[in-house]
Amino acid sequence: MPIVIRSRPVGAECRAAKVYNETIMRIIPIVLPTPYPVGPVNAYFLPGPPATLVDCGPRTPEARAALEAGLAAAGIGLAGIERLVLTHGHVDHFGLAATVAAASGCRVYAHAAEVPKLALDRSFIGPMRTLLAEAGFPASTGDRLLEVLRRYRDQFEPVAPTDLVTDGDRLSLADGDLTVLHTPGHAQGHIGLWDGRVLIAGDLLLEEISPNPLVEFGPDGARLRTLPALIRSLERVVALDPAVAYPGHGDPLERPAARAREVIRHHEAREAHLAAVLAERPHTLREIAAAWFPGLEEMNLILGLSEVLGHLDLLEAHGRLAAERRNGVVYFSLAA
Ligand SMILES: [Zn+2]
Ligand SMILES: [Zn+2]
Repeated sequence: MPIVIRSRPVGAECRAAKVYNETIMRIIPIVLPTPYPVGPVNAYFLPGPPATLVDCGPRTPEARAALEAGLAAAGIGLAGIERLVLTHGHVDHFGLAATVAAASGCRVYAHAAEVPKLALDRSFIGPMRTLLAEAGFPASTGDRLLEVLRRYRDQFEPVAPTDLVTDGDRLSLADGDLTVLHTPGHAQGHIGLWDGRVLIAGDLLLEEISPNPLVEFGPDGARLRTLPALIRSLERVVALDPAVAYPGHGDPLERPAARAREVIRHHEAREAHLAAVLAERPHTLREIAAAWFPGLEEMNLILGLSEVLGHLDLLEAHGRLAAERRNGVVYFSLAA
């Protein structure tokens, strides 16, 4: 009987393997170091054929060495990869994509909404500056952020997908098909892969942290409502009720639907807390973020603002948010 092969025999995985030892899909996790606060990232090798890699880690020598070692342990070299699937356009997941594509000539699959991020498009900087000004930050905050982004840029290399995938598309492998699930929220074009029992989840579902509804703008510069979208994606996990989920960070999740429900409840509690804060008096985005996430700066500031914006968006979606502009700064309050 075919079994799941794993490169890391840790406790959670052994239990997951027991739950799931009747799978026909071989999924080999490869853990890659990142220089980011999130810690290591997971790539997954599916032997296929075609030899398929899901995500590939950041563009660092350490991650490349770990990826090559992980693939070698699975009996393949970088040059043997035939298909690279990117769950989303965050650098911890796709940084080495151009390297893998150059070494192998593989096809690169991603959702269309991630193409600008994979191309290192910087058109979000204008809307981001506007957002910071409306939140009550001085222009110098935007300048500093821009500088940080410029500094980061050297670490990245753009990649253009050869194949754009969307919800319901099927990826064939010798040992079964995977269905693409479009699961927006953490990233607008985030995708998961689903074989009917197992979910390769990317950053949709993580054990330790609730994925950030990272602020994002559409092609017209309008801000997307990322947290309401994330919650709909999590509700989809609840409905699918996978036997196991392979996340973008950390060990496999044995009870993905329960974890998804937990994250939804966390956001509901946060929304209720925010409603109580706004019931006292109108607040700016900056004031709320400073109270919830003191001391945040640079990239972490964006994460903190994204969380608060997400919960403002939930209040808005439920018809409970009012906004008023004073001298270019937006004050939020509870709708009467
Ligand atoms: Zn991510
Ligand atoms: Zn990630």
